[in-house]
Amino acid sequence: MTTPTREPRRIALWLAAQGYAVHPLAPGLKVPVRGCDRCSPGTADHPNLAYVEHDGHACPCHADGRPCHGVLAATTDAERITEWWASTPAAGVGVAAGPSGLVILDVDTHGGEAPSDPERLLPGVELPDDIAPGSVRDGRDVLALLVEARRATLPGCAPETLTVRTPSGGVHYWFRAPAGTRWRPQAGVLGWQLDVRAGSAYAVAPGTVTRAGVYTALGGCRTVAELPVWLARDLDRTGHRVRPERPRVALPWRPRSMGSGYVAAAVEAELRAVAEAQTGTRNDALNRAAFNLGTLCGAGRLNRDQVADVLADAAGHAGLPEREATAAIRSGLVAGERHPRALAGAAA
Ligand SMILES: [Zn+2]
Ligand SMILES: [Zn+2]
Repeated sequence: MTTPTREPRRIALWLAAQGYAVHPLAPGLKVPVRGCDRCSPGTADHPNLAYVEHDGHACPCHADGRPCHGVLAATTDAERITEWWASTPAAGVGVAAGPSGLVILDVDTHGGEAPSDPERLLPGVELPDDIAPGSVRDGRDVLALLVEARRATLPGCAPETLTVRTPSGGVHYWFRAPAGTRWRPQAGVLGWQLDVRAGSAYAVAPGTVTRAGVYTALGGCRTVAELPVWLARDLDRTGHRVRPERPRVALPWRPRSMGSGYVAAAVEAELRAVAEAQTGTRNDALNRAAFNLGTLCGAGRLNRDQVADVLADAAGHAGLPEREATAAIRSGLVAGERHPRALAGAAA
């Protein structure tokens, strides 16, 4: 790819062609263009009285092609992009990190006094004792310390990944999120003056001109590398990785009616194992549960029909097809009943 010119429309189309979702920024600024009247709250000094409070995710303006709600409007659609920049040719280009599959390391150069406590400089990273006082001036030095601690190399200015210098002297390293991973933005959590643009955050595209100056791609590299493993580990460690929470399943049954004491606990545990089983292990979990509870039915401690019912519920939670589940439950219960469990001393 050749370097795009500074014409914002061409920059936006160049990025969109690579799968990066873009949205227009207010000319000369690094904030998104103002949306329509209904979607723009205005400012404290100049509140917009036509504003109607609503959830931007579900806003009809997206379907209507209006660039309301900043990042939420971001698109790779060339036609829409062409329209947006035809109406505001001087709009800068924002790149929505999450929808673009990007994780952008934002190295700040705010100045100010570096924290003397290493835990505030780079939390959780073992640093050398002999850091000269005054040698850490901004995010670039903090990043250098991290890179050294990890015995890694970071794509410097080039050529390994797209690297953008901001008008204030900061540096943005653009990375692709590894397949199947999601990341969240945080400021200063990885380290002092080290921010991460991901998820709902955006970055200003190289070539965008603001009143403060130009966002400039450094070196010759215009492609985006995958997030290096060492950095992914540190971002994960510092809470930037979004891990799909497996919600604790709200159990649809009442173990109380399914025996008491040991028996109730066994029912609860088996049902939970089935309901929370992952694809690939669900069948085994269901077979095992049906067998185990079948041994209690065989011992006269549980009612087989009731057990079959709640197992079917749990299997449904795990997403097992009903017919498959019914067959597995029946055969598991029958097999278990042939091996009645002896519950010596267990309370009824
Ligand atoms: Zn709108
Ligand atoms: Zn709206």
